[in-house]
Amino acid sequence: MRVAVLGAGVVGVTTAWYLTKLGHEVTLIERRSGPALETSFGNAGGVCPGFAGPWAAPGMPFKAFKWLFKSQAPLKWRPRADLAQWRWLAAFVKNCTPEAFARNKARMQRMAHYSKASLVALREETGITYDNASNGVLQVFATEEEMEGGRRSARVLSELGIPHRLVDGDGVREVEPGLARAHAPLVGGLHLLEDETGDCHLFCQSLTSLLRDAGCTMHFDTVARAFVRDGDRITHVDTSAGPIPADAFVVATGPYAPQLLRPLGIDVPVYPVKGYSMTCDISEDGAAPRSSVMDEHSKVMVTRLGSRLRAAGVAELAGFDARIPEGAKRALRSRVETLFPGAANYQQAQFWCGFRPMTPDGPARLGQAGCRNLYLNVGHGSNGWTQACGTARVVAYLVSGKTPEIEV
Ligand SMILES: Cc1cc2nc3c(=O)[nH]c(=O)nc-3n(C[C@H](O)[C@H](O)[C@H](O)COP(=O)(O)OP(=O)(O)OC[C@H]3O[C@@H](n4cnc5c(N)ncnc54)[C@H](O)[C@@H]3O)c2cc1C
Repeated sequence: MRVAVLGAGVVGVTTAWYLTKLGHEVTLIERRSGPALETSFGNAGGVCPGFAGPWAAPGMPFKAFKWLFKSQAPLKWRPRADLAQWRWLAAFVKNCTPEAFARNKARMQRMAHYSKASLVALREETGITYDNASNGVLQVFATEEEMEGGRRSARVLSELGIPHRLVDGDGVREVEPGLARAHAPLVGGLHLLEDETGDCHLFCQSLTSLLRDAGCTMHFDTVARAFVRDGDRITHVDTSAGPIPADAFVVATGPYAPQLLRPLGIDVPVYPVKGYSMTCDISEDGAAPRSSVMDEHSKVMVTRLGSRLRAAGVAELAGFDARIPEGAKRALRSRVETLFPGAANYQQAQFWCGFRPMTPDGPARLGQAGCRNLYLNVGHGSNGWTQACGTARVVAYLVSGKTPEIEV
């Protein structure tokens, strides 16, 4: 079957990969000049099934309200005259009940663990590397209250059978010796032993090159403008390079999916949640993280990617505003320097921002929608690198008329 995949972020590229493996003739359509140049470019680099879960959680609306009045809050909301933003927020609040949280968390956990297993298998099959490492992720806590939250998470992880251990302040410094120099209090941590790290952009570049070798057709610098339908089927997608016909179409345009789907009457609840990252060369090996540290206090994640350090965080609900204010740069750099002083060339840091394609409840939207031959793979939020291989594999099975290997 001829399948067109729209969007070459990590979700589109992995979808193209699993479709090709299932024997389809795949065309990848991307408006940028190469793969993963938008949200998948500069993320924190964590493949962290242990952390996968919805942001909509009990107590979250109250926490978010308190953050509204802080200048350095991990979550910022700039109210706009934008119906999509208000509808998204209302649905988010509705999902903050214990029941909705438990249901959404279980769904995301199931997908994230399947996804990591799929990524490991893909790596073994292809031998690709992407500054990847399998040394776990350490979540660190600055206060006793945060530590208590860590104990609660550890109980959930135990129920799910996920390997982890709680450590005290000394234990934190044992796992990540670079934190011995931190100018911040660290009372303890939660070490997720099986989580991984890697550069999502490098991964997508390598996989794209394998896809090319496998015969996948690439249309870069090509904007998908609109779907053209005949009854209950899409016949082709109208693009800046002309019409592209196919037997099936997969939308993997991340935060931009609603724009493409709305004219078909498909209302997908994906809203862009902006985040920032900085990348710089490590200058003193022993002072830098060995693997990855998730700082619960600031919600900033600091990850080693080969000889580079990547730090990412902050969530802003402000539409597609791609500016990177000096204040945001200063805040990010200052928190990383507090945790890992002298570890990297912080003055030469490259800053970036991206838009997480967030659904209000957490799980991504997968599978057939609106037309018989139209499929979605969108809404991966803050876990898209973690969930990409799993969701791609599920969608490739659905497009092929096969039953996915996990319950969706
Ligand atoms: C600061 C930050 C830190 C993060 N850290 C992590 C992390 O540590 N671990 C993790 O798992 N996840 C993380 N994420 C989330 C993760 O990066 C995203 O979930 C993931 O990249 C989404 O991938 P995607 O392919 O859906 O979207 P994208 O990467 O945005 O890809 C969509 C593609 O579609 C293209 N496109 C859009 N419209 C059109 C059109 N009309 N025609 C043609 N092409 C089009 C775009 O150009 C783009 O390339 C983070 C995100 C941010 C912002």
